[in-house]
Amino acid sequence: MVVTGLPMATKECIALVISCMDYRFQAPMHAWLKKMGLESRYDLVCLPGATKDFEQRGLMEFVNLAVELHKIREVHVVHHEDCGAYRLAGWQKEHELPAQQEDMKKAKRVITERHPQLRVKLWFLRLNREEPEELQVGD
Ligand SMILES: [Zn+2]
Repeated sequence: MVVTGLPMATKECIALVISCMDYRFQAPMHAWLKKMGLESRYDLVCLPGATKDFEQRGLMEFVNLAVELHKIREVHVVHHEDCGAYRLAGWQKEHELPAQQEDMKKAKRVITERHPQLRVKLWFLRLNREEPEELQVGD
């Protein structure tokens, strides 16, 4: 039997995107990913706080699966301003960004240790911007 109507199935997967579940950022994030040429070419893990408590929540398993099943070459970690997951965890607004950056960098470190071939990029979406800015990690 020939399966039709799945034109996207012929494209190869390039990336795994790990983002927060927050509804406010989904449309701009997907538009931005499309602009980056990743439309229909990324696996998505969407959880409150994205890489918050990366190891404790077993997020590495998703990375491992994306590598094994879809041979991804990139991981894009997308956090955002005013994240409820951080607020509920008790972070005050002025400390939220450093806390998020710390978690993003830690996730990158853990992912890169296990999969050194992956290009891991960290992104931060602000409420008043349509596209995320890249977080430079000095490591
Ligand atoms: Zn969030």
